[in-house]
Amino acid sequence: MRPFEVYAAKDSNHAVALLAQHTATSKVKVIAGGTDLLADLKFSAHSPDVIVDISRVEDLKGLKITDEGLNIGALVTHSQIMRSPIIQEMFPALVDAAHSIGAVQTRNLGTLGGNLVTGVPSMDSGPTLIALDALVNIIGSTGRRQLPLIDFFLGPRKTVLKPDELLAEIIIPRQNLGKPTHFLKFGLRKGQALALVNVAASIWIDWDKNVFVAPRIALGAVAPKVIRAPKAEAYLEGRTVTPEAMAEAGRIASTDARPITDFRASAEYRRDLVAVLTKRALEAAYALGQSKR
Ligand SMILES: Cc1cc2nc3c(=O)[nH]c(=O)nc-3n(C[C@H](O)[C@H](O)[C@H](O)COP(=O)(O)OP(=O)(O)OC[C@H]3O[C@@H](n4cnc5c(N)ncnc54)[C@H](O)[C@@H]3O)c2cc1C
Repeated sequence: MRPFEVYAAKDSNHAVALLAQHTATSKVKVIAGGTDLLADLKFSAHSPDVIVDISRVEDLKGLKITDEGLNIGALVTHSQIMRSPIIQEMFPALVDAAHSIGAVQTRNLGTLGGNLVTGVPSMDSGPTLIALDALVNIIGSTGRRQLPLIDFFLGPRKTVLKPDELLAEIIIPRQNLGKPTHFLKFGLRKGQALALVNVAASIWIDWDKNVFVAPRIALGAVAPKVIRAPKAEAYLEGRTVTPEAMAEAGRIASTDARPITDFRASAEYRRDLVAVLTKRALEAAYALGQSKR
C-alpha cells in the first residue's frame, strides 16, 4: 500500500471544500465505512494520494420523513436500515436487501451511499431503491444536483459522480411511501454471497378493478448496471392481477435482462433466475399489499 494523506471532514460543507481543494492537484478518494475502499487500497495499483474521511459527518447520517418523502443520509449503515422502525413499517424490502449484505460487521460499517457509489452491478441496495423510483442528491463545489438513482449509474463501477462530488442523500419520493415492494437475492450460498441475480418488484393495486398500477421491476447482476425491466413493466400496467400475469411478466423480464456467462453462472441460468425471482417478487409484493389493505 502506498502512503497517502488523510483529512477528516467535520461536516458535508467541509468535506466538499476538502475535495475541491485536493482534486485539482491529487488523486483523491472518499472513505465512508471503508468496507470496500480498504480492500481496494490494499490490492489496487491505483492508490489515491489523499483520502477524505466522511465517516464522522453527522449531517449525512439522518433518516427521516420530509415533504419530499423518505430522506436517507448517505452515511446510514445497512444495520441502521434494518433497525429503523420507519423502514421496517414502510419498506420491509429495504430491510431484506440490507440484511442480505455481507455479515454483521460489514453491515455495521458499510453505508448505503458507499454501496451505491461502488457502482457494482450486483449491489444489493440498488434494485429496491430503483423499484421505488428513488432520487439522489449530490453535492459538490459548484452546488447541489438531484437525479433519479437509475441515472446515477453509468456502467460497472462507474457513476456520474465527479471527483469533487459527494453522494449526500437518497430520497424515496412521497408518492411511493409504503408502496408494496419485495426484494429477492439468489447467491451461491446463504450468507456472505454476491448476488448471481437480485430482483426487486414494487406495485400499487387498484383494488376496485384488481389491476396493477405503476409496476416497477429492477434487476441486478444481469447487465453492466442495475436496470429496470421496461417490457415486463409495460405488460403489467393496467392488467388484471392473476398468477399467470405475474409468471408472464417474469418471462418477459428475462428478455429485458442482458446477463453474461462467467465462472459463477451461465447467462441462460441467470435468465431463468430472473423469470422465477420476478414472479416470486411480484407475488410477495401483492401479498404485502393485501395485508396492508
Ligand atoms: C466481506 C464483504 C462482504 C460484502 N458483501 C456484500 C453484499 O453481499 N452485497 C453488497 O451489495 N455489497 C457487499 N459488500 C460491499 C460493501 O460492503 C458495500 O458496498 C458497502 O455498503 C460499502 O459502503 P462503505 O461505506 O463501506 O463504502 P466505502 O468502502 O467507504 O466506499 C466505497 C466507495 O464509495 C465511495 N464513497 C463512499 N461513500 C461516498 C459518498 N457518500 N460520496 C461519494 N463517494 C463515496 C468511496 O470513495 C469508494 O470508492 C461486501 C463487502 C465486504 C468486505
